[in-house]
Amino acid sequence: LSARRLLVALGGNAIAHEGHAGPGDQQAAVETAMEQVADLVAAGYEVALTHGNGPQVGNLLLKNELAKDVVPAVPLDWCVAQTQATIGYLITTALERAFARRGIERAIAVLVTRVLVDRDDPAFANPSKPIGRDRRLVPSPEPLAILDQVSVVRLLDNGAVVIAAGGGGVPMVRDPDGLTGVEAVIDKDLCGALLATVIGAEALLIATDVPGVAIDPEAPEPEWLGRTTPARLRELAEQGAFPAGSMGPKVEACLRFLDAGGERAVISELERLLDAARGEAGTIVEAEAAP
Ligand code: ADP
Ligand code: MG
Repeated sequence: LSARRLLVALGGNAIAHEGHAGPGDQQAAVETAMEQVADLVAAGYEVALTHGNGPQVGNLLLKNELAKDVVPAVPLDWCVAQTQATIGYLITTALERAFARRGIERAIAVLVTRVLVDRDDPAFANPSKPIGRDRRLVPSPEPLAILDQVSVVRLLDNGAVVIAAGGGGVPMVRDPDGLTGVEAVIDKDLCGALLATVIGAEALLIATDVPGVAIDPEAPEPEWLGRTTPARLRELAEQGAFPAGSMGPKVEACLRFLDAGGERAVISELERLLDAARGEAGTIVEAEAAP
């Protein structure tokens, strides 16, 4: 376990406000997010980043559809790879500028990252993940392995900031003759938990647009959960506090990371990322101390 290594999962809001964000808006959102990430690196943390791609991949699908009589449409896994590259390009450029302002010199690497899923995953028969402006539903299978994890780890070990598994990774299935891409979108928080585990991160930080987990999100003045345990989160999950399309996978990602041996998982607003890393903001989930 690397004491100062973090996996930061950035929500869609960190990159594009739902729906109609043009290139300038997306760039501005990424620049704001990278100020926070640069502060983490300046504080001495080793950082791997992952990010969502819901609006971007939805827009690409729509473009494919509208243009299909002119240029051949490409499959959804190609679209995921394309959004990894584009968002990674924006992140790299913004982060480099934020580093320059702080006098930090650090390599930044974006990896097109493939993730293994199971062809028999029930998600393929039950598309459930809404993406894009028309909220179309696509399958969202379980991430089983980060196929490019060796590259992620080597880059991190060599001091680079790594952006990996964007949009939950490009989903692939393994057949007797090798790997094949499949049309699906993996949840970025669940994939982030797996990535955090394989890189031996000390903490998983999930950055979103709310201060943390609300005990009752419908309440006029939500009560935010601070330091908590997996048992308490499981209890709230069973009471239905965490919807499948939003807070549910974040909570599940925290629980999986701790189950796999991680020390700490935090769900926090993006604006308080450094405080979240220090355990001073957000909903902080820590394994119960052994009796
Ligand atoms: P991201 O793009 O960061 O993945 P999501 O929209 O998927 O963000 O998830 C964050 C949203 O989850 C919040 O904006 C909030 O509206 C919603 N939410 C649902 N239940 C809860 C809860 N119990 N506590 C906090 N937020 C919740
Ligand atoms: Mg989400």
